[in-house]
Amino acid sequence: MVYNQYIKCQVCGSVTRIRLQVGYLKQHPIVVICGKCKTSLYGTAYIDQDNIGLKMEFDNANSLGNHIMSEGDYFVECSGEFPVRKQGVDDVDNLISISPFLSQMMSMSSDMKNIETYQQALANLDRTCQKWKSYKRILDLYESKSPYLKQEIRKEFDGQMFPCNTDSEVLHTIHMIEIIGFCSSLKPEILKNLNFSDDILRLNPVQMKCLNDFLNSHDGYHLKQIQSQIYKILDEFIKVYPSLIPAISLQHSGEENFDFEHKGTTTSTFETIKQFYLDVYETLGNLIIIPVAFNNIHYRSDLNSSDIIDSKTLTLEEFVKLTKANRYHFCTDTEKFTAFLKLKYNAKLRNAIGHNDIEYDSILQLITYYPDPKNRAKKDTEYLLQFELEALHMFQAILAVSEYLYRLQELKFMQDGDSDLIRGMASKIGAYDLCPCGSGKKFKFCHKTKK
Ligand SMILES: [Zn+2]
Ligand SMILES: [Zn+2]
Repeated sequence: MVYNQYIKCQVCGSVTRIRLQVGYLKQHPIVVICGKCKTSLYGTAYIDQDNIGLKMEFDNANSLGNHIMSEGDYFVECSGEFPVRKQGVDDVDNLISISPFLSQMMSMSSDMKNIETYQQALANLDRTCQKWKSYKRILDLYESKSPYLKQEIRKEFDGQMFPCNTDSEVLHTIHMIEIIGFCSSLKPEILKNLNFSDDILRLNPVQMKCLNDFLNSHDGYHLKQIQSQIYKILDEFIKVYPSLIPAISLQHSGEENFDFEHKGTTTSTFETIKQFYLDVYETLGNLIIIPVAFNNIHYRSDLNSSDIIDSKTLTLEEFVKLTKANRYHFCTDTEKFTAFLKLKYNAKLRNAIGHNDIEYDSILQLITYYPDPKNRAKKDTEYLLQFELEALHMFQAILAVSEYLYRLQELKFMQDGDSDLIRGMASKIGAYDLCPCGSGKKFKFCHKTKK
């Protein structure tokens, strides 16, 4: 269903027709600009799903009632869930054109499963948002080692399925917030490929112990500090999520062939997403050390031997001294632990934002930036939805590294002598493999029998 409403700009008096795609969200932002005087007419759509009522409120514009089906001066298509045609001049064609919903369904329906997975993903993320207050409380209590932690976990997680008697069981339960709340919708590969996690546990345990020792001896890289950075980003994602939904829907319909020039989003503007983009970029820049170290161990059996990048190979100590932008160069798709991140980013744009060297056209939804601060003759551009997709890809990469971090924390428990956890792995390791505790001895002669 689409719903038309005319609004009048309080500044210049132009009339804009809002054509709203009514979706399942109860409320979502609407980002509209007056086509004439460029005043922001930002608003909110409220949809009462039970009584099929609908209301839109705008800053800087008044509603004209929705009965006059004449043409406005400008036309804006809006949707809380899908990309839409970009705003333009109003004409008769706009009354009969295909709705954002149908347009998106048509591009997804090459494979019917796409639509289903998309709807499932949104429903899951919606539930995460609703539960976020209690999830966040659990994460905070975990970080502060509060005695109330278990009490709060019990309110969300069934004690039979999620026992919390040991530290590793508590961590396992808390990790479910990321798995159920985020990965199931945004990085389902983690759940689909369980071998992948086992592969991490099969990396040389002595080297993995060295990695944990390295991280825990470098300020900013302690496992707890890295975890804390990830929790902070989860919280930021929840806040910006309603604005990112159309970009998420694009990931399900194929972002490669999308018409970024003519279609855009009405749930966000550059300013809505900017800080999130900067923060995911910074955080991921800190986290990349983990997949890089895994690659070193997996491909070269040496924690301190990186892939050859920019014609050099680096030790971990040299790697942490790199700028974030240079660390990103190590995130190649030729080695599996970085390839799994499926990273997309734009370091030049990130730097331009840092220098405030960008311009944003809110009608075209186009970011113009100077990739080289010393040569202002050269300009590059990127559309808002492309920018949002990069932010999403970086966030999804963080979810993947978070899974790596979880495995590192599990190993840390084993390195610290959690024999039950080690013996729980017995089916996954051979008697003559190295013991996961990192002692360097064969499993059979170490924790296989040790109490
Ligand atoms: Zn105006
Ligand atoms: Zn052992």
